[in-house]
Amino acid sequence: MENTDIRYPVPGSCQCGKVTYELLAAPIKVIICHCRECQKLSTSAFSITAMVNRDDLRINGEMRAWERLAENGNRNCATFCPNCGNRIYHFNPAQPDIIKLKPGTLSDTRMIQPVMHVWTSEKQDWYQIPEGVEQHQKQPW
Ligand SMILES: [Zn+2]
Ligand SMILES: [Zn+2]
Repeated sequence: MENTDIRYPVPGSCQCGKVTYELLAAPIKVIICHCRECQKLSTSAFSITAMVNRDDLRINGEMRAWERLAENGNRNCATFCPNCGNRIYHFNPAQPDIIKLKPGTLSDTRMIQPVMHVWTSEKQDWYQIPEGVEQHQKQPW
């Protein structure tokens, strides 16, 4: 799964470029969420989350934040570029050491190798989860 061609740090940025960042090390794991909230957030069929250690992410530029409560009661804090609105990462303030990076903003996306699909109960019918990848009807934690 680990792609040894990827050279860290890998740069990333929002669409307008006012927020830039560097990812210093490979993500802990990459997860896809099919819930309706993530469909709205991504304006697509699902969202992709790369779980990374806070220490492995260096952000430059001003961001804004917005927060909502997840179904399981967890706080989900979303950060985004105030200029173009591009989401950069989410985190739970109760677990500040883990950042849920939106990895589509990376310049090299080869490390997006999802190992788990969650909220498959709300998945679009036309999307087929690859065989052998762990999946959950809801969020397993
Ligand atoms: Zn921007
Ligand atoms: Zn979701």
